[in-house]
Amino acid sequence: MRYAIIADIHSNLAAFTAVLADIEQRGGVEEVWCLGDVVGYGPDPHECIALLSQTNHVCLAGNHDWAAIGKLDTSYFNPEAAAACHWTAQQLSPEDVDYLENLPLSIHKGDFTLVHGSPREPIWEYLLSTSEAKENFAYFQTQFCLVGHSHVPLVFSYSETGACSCNQFLPDTELTLGKSRLIINPGGVGQPRDGNPRASYAIYDSETRIIRLYRIPYDIGATQARMVEHGLPMRLVARLSHGL
Ligand code: ZN
Repeated sequence: MRYAIIADIHSNLAAFTAVLADIEQRGGVEEVWCLGDVVGYGPDPHECIALLSQTNHVCLAGNHDWAAIGKLDTSYFNPEAAAACHWTAQQLSPEDVDYLENLPLSIHKGDFTLVHGSPREPIWEYLLSTSEAKENFAYFQTQFCLVGHSHVPLVFSYSETGACSCNQFLPDTELTLGKSRLIINPGGVGQPRDGNPRASYAIYDSETRIIRLYRIPYDIGATQARMVEHGLPMRLVARLSHGL
């Protein structure tokens, strides 16, 4: 079976559409595993929820998903993120609100635990350092954990000897699952932050036990034009060009 691992769509319909087309072009998947933050920042929250709902998928709650429905206080957000969040809230249909309201904090799929931020703090914690990751290996029972939230494709590895390491998950590289416990971030679909503006996602093949990362070009200008049209903050518009 093959599974798509996607995170942080962030209302970027052009990026999400390009990723779904790429998945189809590679032969499709059994199920899409979405690690949260379907909305926030971008110009098409309703459309992204609708498109995700058309796929066979599971999805987690992210901080932006909760903030958009008032489940989180936006005073924790930077001013641009908060402004985009208030705009997002006005775009959601009652069905969209129901959908976001019912997203779980974690999901188990075979050897994998799925969360948005970290297993210790599923909504808020960013896993970017080896020391934070090392502590988090104590907070999930499965061999592997999938996280989003930082929008940076990374693999944290915890060896049998207790050593923890961190590696970038580079485009078109394969990760073969072995004995080590891993925390894996597939990067962000809708707002990459590793200096590469292409949409990021991964496909897991349960037969070969391989996860492969893909970076997909999409029409960044189309998303930016929609953001300008809706008066979303210019810093959020500009960062899509740089992947930062
Ligand atoms: Zn996010």
